[in-house]
Amino acid sequence: MTPVLLSGPDMSYAERAAVIEAFDSGWIAPLGPAVDDFEQRMADRLGRRHAVALSSGTAALHLGLLAWGVGPGDVIPTSTMTFAATANAISYTGATPYFVDADPQTGQMDPGLLEEVLSTLQRDGRSVPAVVPVDLLGSCADYTRIGAIAWRYGARVLADSAESLGAHHAGRPAGKLGDAAILSFNGNKVMTTSGGGMYLTDDEATASRVRFLATQAREPVAHYEHREIGYNYRLSNLLAGVGIAQLGRLDDMIARRRARREAYAALVADSPGVEIFQRSGDLDDNCWLTAAVVDPDVAGFSAADLGAVLTAARIESRPLWKPMHLQPIFASSPARITGAAERLFSTGLALPSGSALTEAECRQVDGVLHEFLASRMRCSTSRSTTVL
Ligand SMILES: *Cc1c(COP(=O)(O)O)cnc(C)c1O
Repeated sequence: MTPVLLSGPDMSYAERAAVIEAFDSGWIAPLGPAVDDFEQRMADRLGRRHAVALSSGTAALHLGLLAWGVGPGDVIPTSTMTFAATANAISYTGATPYFVDADPQTGQMDPGLLEEVLSTLQRDGRSVPAVVPVDLLGSCADYTRIGAIAWRYGARVLADSAESLGAHHAGRPAGKLGDAAILSFNGNKVMTTSGGGMYLTDDEATASRVRFLATQAREPVAHYEHREIGYNYRLSNLLAGVGIAQLGRLDDMIARRRARREAYAALVADSPGVEIFQRSGDLDDNCWLTAAVVDPDVAGFSAADLGAVLTAARIESRPLWKPMHLQPIFASSPARITGAAERLFSTGLALPSGSALTEAECRQVDGVLHEFLASRMRCSTSRSTTVL
């Protein structure tokens, strides 16, 4: 039996046909009409003036920062609760990431802590040209507060919306939040181009700057002329074909992820100490990953125990992101830590959430979870009876 995946790619006949169409058009690589079309469709959907398709979300973060002139000596506050790509991209520019802890409920960057960090950095005379909040697990950070705080300190907001395409905050879609935003189309995200990303902004100058840097900083003349260091970061035309087909199915794929979340919420409803993470306000969420948060003192078991039961049944699950300030490579980076992200890391477990899960796989996962939770309830009942 093949393992049940956490969030595998969801491919249909449409994606296959799109690759063949891009192939037959003769525009194999790197750029071509499918790239332009993909950019236009995403910009239209999200209400952004400019979209630049790139080879990864990491590349989009890197160039987004470079386009604003971020470099050595700068400090860039970002969420500690994130995937390494965010902090890596900041490091590529020579700037220093400054890790900000999470709101204990939502797991998103805590705006109050961000304000403290910005105020300290300002007092110390440090240069803070940008802030990079991360949309955790498909739900948006609080851009209303973060945007206002960053503005007061003269920092721009680059939204890491790699996980949140399809989510909203205050009526605005992820991708349209922040001064600029990035998306990822990595294989495990809500939609994929097998690998890819996008930079989104309403500012023409930074969009052209990102395009320029992504094509080896090649000057617009017939011979190859270069005055700056550039990168080879554009998305291939074949992969843009996959992206167009995936975008056409995005709402349907998100609806399937949402149905998974509802099923998990129903399963844990009667289990004390077990909750579905980010459940409040989740109509704004794209339900990229649904996680259970287990309070071991109440539940009588831990998130790791639950993970072990799933692993034994060949079902993939994963702790939430290990906070960046705990990563050996970033251990000496500055950070404002309360312990909220660490607690979520030790109590959270992401469950299979992909839109490609089959009916049989969903039944299998639900069966294993149901049986485990029911057996633990029986032991906790017998335990309390013994105490009485
Ligand atoms: C996936 C992800 C990225 C990186 O995207 P790639 O396309 O894999 O480079 C960046 N930030 C976050 C928060 C992510 O989850």
